Amino acid sequence: MHQQTLSIVENQTTLIDKAIEHQRLSNKEAWVAMNKVLETQRTTIELLKQTLLLFSSRGQPIYTATNIPLSVTHNYLLPISKFKESCHVCRYYGHGAKDCPNIEESGRGACINCWSHHHKTNSCRNWSVSTPFKSRFLSPDQLVLSFGTVVSDHRRG
Ligand SMILES: [Zn+2]
Ligand SMILES: [Zn+2]
Repeated sequence: MHQQTLSIVENQTTLIDKAIEHQRLSNKEAWVAMNKVLETQRTTIELLKQTLLLFSSRGQPIYTATNIPLSVTHNYLLPISKFKESCHVCRYYGHGAKDCPNIEESGRGACINCWSHHHKTNSCRNWSVSTPFKSRFLSPDQLVLSFGTVVSDHRRG
């Protein structure tokens, strides 16, 4: 009887040991995966810092259009506070279409399809008309590509 109980308890102990070992291993995997994510994150942050340093050392603000600087408060490449979605017009973050700094005054508050002031975008039945962007407007993609050029030029130099 005691012998039997002992062997059952021993079996249970072995199982618990195995369970703990398993837990340790799977946690280790999770830990390794998490560390890889963190590593990537650090690399990205480092690259961003270098890019920012490069631009600040050039002493020139970055413009998204003539006289419109890239701004961390209202005209940015990444979501800012309540602006989780980019502007439907220019695709930068930090403002809505009706306050878009990258289009001419005349386009503010207009239908963003045909640029008429006589109706709202969602009731527009007209053909689309090209966006009245300010001169030298660069889309976020174009702007990022221009960063790439500067970074590689810098490294060559
Ligand atoms: Zn915009
Ligand atoms: Zn319209």
